[in-house]
Amino acid sequence: MDKKSLHKFKESIINDYPRMGRHDKFQFGCHPGVLCFNKCCNDVNIFLTPYDVIRLKNRLGITSGQFIEKYTILPIEENLKHPVVMLQMNEKTLNCPFVDENGCTVYEDRPWSCRMFPVGVASPKEIQDKEASDEEFYFLLREDVCHGFEEKGEWTVDQWIKDQKAEEFNEMGELFKEISLHDFFTKGKGIQPVKLEMFFMVCYDIDKFKSFVFDSTFLKRFEIKKERVERMREDDAELLKFGFDWLRFALFGEKTLKLSDRYNKPA
Ligand code: SF4
Ligand code: SF4
Repeated sequence: MDKKSLHKFKESIINDYPRMGRHDKFQFGCHPGVLCFNKCCNDVNIFLTPYDVIRLKNRLGITSGQFIEKYTILPIEENLKHPVVMLQMNEKTLNCPFVDENGCTVYEDRPWSCRMFPVGVASPKEIQDKEASDEEFYFLLREDVCHGFEEKGEWTVDQWIKDQKAEEFNEMGELFKEISLHDFFTKGKGIQPVKLEMFFMVCYDIDKFKSFVFDSTFLKRFEIKKERVERMREDDAELLKFGFDWLRFALFGEKTLKLSDRYNKPA
């Protein structure tokens, strides 16, 4: 699907797809015995969240920079208000780089959208449909290739999220949306290149952000509790949460961080 079709697809989801809530039910089953096993891991558009990148690069034991370089593409599209990264399919076979004959080789750390499939989440705000309500909703993705809907198994959306261990991904996703769906982006304001770089570093290159934070005077500028600093040093997800706070502070002027006295005083 090219980028224009992708935007149209998003519009059709908002306008035409049956909307589901967390307690709505659907029938679905996916296991190695299905005829379509692995078929969904070919020629597919997978947008990676910042937390997906962390999980995958740690799983592979490489840096975020190496991961971005080797496994992703950065689509350029006029409708995009901020950078996004997508998983790069194999050029010849169009297979996902992580699929083999036994299935997903990064299963425990697979991206959010693979985890949630066939459930999708739509944010009307994302495509600036002013007629649509801003409320997010769930919907079912019925791909021709997928026979999972013919299998046994009844789920509510909530049960599916739990079964697929998607809760942590959703929590991190909510924090990311505070930035990616902020009016600053959705109401069409441009973003200066230097801020674009900040956004990209925090969201997709966490190891670069780590050295930016810990190998400079950065931490002296803000009042941050020692315990939080230690958690950020040990855990990329904690560092990402801090990065989100910093982006909200630096991009939108929100009071998510407090400047230390030294930097708060007028010169
Ligand atoms: S990450 Fe795993 S589940 Fe997702 S497309 Fe690739 S192989 Fe399939
Ligand atoms: S049932 Fe659907 S999700 Fe499962 S392997 Fe087949 S195509 Fe993929």
